[in-house]
Amino acid sequence: MVYWFVTASVTGIAALAGIVCRRRQVALARERANRIAAENTLRLTHARQRALLDCIDNFAWIKDREHRFLAVNQKFHEVFGVAPEALIGKDDRDISSPELAAHFRAEDLAVLESGQPRQSEEQIPGKDGLVWAEIIKVPVFSDDGEIIGTAGIARDISLRRHYAEQAEFFANKDPLTGLHNRRYLEENFENFAASHPTFVAVTMDLDNFKTINDTEGHTIGDELLRELGLRLSALTGPDDLVVRLGGDEFLIFKSMPTSDVTVIDMLAQEIEQTVVNPYRIAGNIYEISTSMGVASYPEHGKDRLTLIRHVDIAMHVAKNSGRNRYCWFHAALAENAAHRRRIERRLREALETNAFELHYQPVFDTRTSELIGAEALVRLRDAEGAPIPPSAFIPVAEAAGLIEPLGDWVLRTGLAQLAQWRSAGHTELHLAINISGIQFASPGFATKLEHALAEARIPGRVLELELTEGVLMADVESNFAMLSQIRELGVQLVVDDFGTGYSCLAYLKRLPIHRLKIDRSFVDGLPGDAGDIALTHTILQLAHTFQLEVTAEGVETDQQLTLLTELGCEAVQGYLLGRPCDARGFERLLEPALID
Ligand code: C2E
Ligand code: MG
Ligand code: MG
Repeated sequence: MVYWFVTASVTGIAALAGIVCRRRQVALARERANRIAAENTLRLTHARQRALLDCIDNFAWIKDREHRFLAVNQKFHEVFGVAPEALIGKDDRDISSPELAAHFRAEDLAVLESGQPRQSEEQIPGKDGLVWAEIIKVPVFSDDGEIIGTAGIARDISLRRHYAEQAEFFANKDPLTGLHNRRYLEENFENFAASHPTFVAVTMDLDNFKTINDTEGHTIGDELLRELGLRLSALTGPDDLVVRLGGDEFLIFKSMPTSDVTVIDMLAQEIEQTVVNPYRIAGNIYEISTSMGVASYPEHGKDRLTLIRHVDIAMHVAKNSGRNRYCWFHAALAENAAHRRRIERRLREALETNAFELHYQPVFDTRTSELIGAEALVRLRDAEGAPIPPSAFIPVAEAAGLIEPLGDWVLRTGLAQLAQWRSAGHTELHLAINISGIQFASPGFATKLEHALAEARIPGRVLELELTEGVLMADVESNFAMLSQIRELGVQLVVDDFGTGYSCLAYLKRLPIHRLKIDRSFVDGLPGDAGDIALTHTILQLAHTFQLEVTAEGVETDQQLTLLTELGCEAVQGYLLGRPCDARGFERLLEPALID
């Protein structure tokens, strides 16, 4: 019984043990099956994840909470040259510098802690160099809402950044010289002024640069500007600013104390010297001068517009007072500039409303005492009717680009008037018209003159054009062609204000000139001033040597008239014989046309 029991028990235990053993086996098998299934699911999930990630044309990744890569896509491989599999389980330290890896880690942490996405633009080292990437990182949540890692996607924006940088560069730089441009100045003035408590502002405009461009071609002109840009940059340091404002205009801000005027004068001279040093371009030597304005910050303007306006005013004064010089800004100049602006407004108004008048000053022949002609002198009145002298409005008209329409009006009106007088029988009357340098330099001038003469049906021989020595000498070569063209029309050329300009006599021989006009300043001294007598005498002898006639202007006394007649001066004009008057007044002189 006991045996049975024991046997039975043993058998039972063994059977039981067998059952337990089988169950464990089953459990183990199930566990394994489950694990395999789970692994398969995971692999499938990874495969799906990869497939999905690989579809993205940007580089993308998923990381766990410990910043280890769980998945990266093919694009990641293309950019960084690391196989996706090799990265799994690694972190940023394995592919980036310690600093960059620390930065990415901090970014990941911020996402993990805030649960919010983050966006940034970073420069990261790819296998072919630095890559600009726009990175978006988001938190990855488990089913129960816990943050279990991060996912990121980065778009290669290198090209966009490159174009943006280029656009930025060109928006702020002058492409020809590489200097900053006007826009840069506008946007950065305040920054500059904030970091430089005192500085000197110098604006410059090249004298006659247009002539170089016109005669030598734009390539030479461009080369000259480029070279000048280099010179100005070399003259300045990192604390200064050089700007090409446009065309041949430059601006320099030189950071320095502004209390010592002598030092600023030295700077202006140094800049001037830098500009005038000859330029060797394509085997030729070119020379150029500049008119500069000088002002200081903050004394002459605390804001950009005021400072630039003031330094520009000073520059224009330098230009108008004969160029090739610099001029300091001072308060009186600003008043003067305001006055010039008023004149400019009045000029525009007068052109529109035909408010100019033309006056005529009689010219007499000293040999016959006959009235032989008139000088046309333009007149302008302000809104209240007070006369504005030509010496005040002609330079403004020149600077404002209004001298051509004004000159056209004078030419048309003068010729129309002369035509009337001619039809009344005064066919030998000469009319002298003053021509500004700008008018004369405009390419179509001779043709315009031809048309004006034809329209008024006037022969060229009764028209005289008065040009100053400066205008005649400005560009002898191209003037020569123009003067020959004018001579072919029969028009006579007169050197106005003779003796006050260059007094380079060689041109008298070369240029087709008919008459000299002795300037009033010499006539003034007659007959008391021995020097003026000698000068007048010399001018007359010289003129006669070249077979030129002479008119003396500004004759105010009998003694002046007598002496000039004795010295052989052919013609005279002045207050003694007749002030400039309107056409009706001049007509009263036409009959009888005699002195005395
Ligand atoms: P300008 O051509 O030398 O003209 C002679 C100036 O001397 C005129 O001054 C005339 O009024 C003045 N004048 C004539 N006789 C006497 C005199 O006996 N005593 C004194 N003190 N002055 C006398 P205005 O009309 O003021 O003209 C000044 C300058 O303005 C002219 O000098 C000329 O350069 C310019 N101008 C006048 N009209 C025109 C014009 O239509 N076009 C251009 N481009 N310039 C003009
Ligand atoms: Mg004149
Ligand atoms: Mg004159």
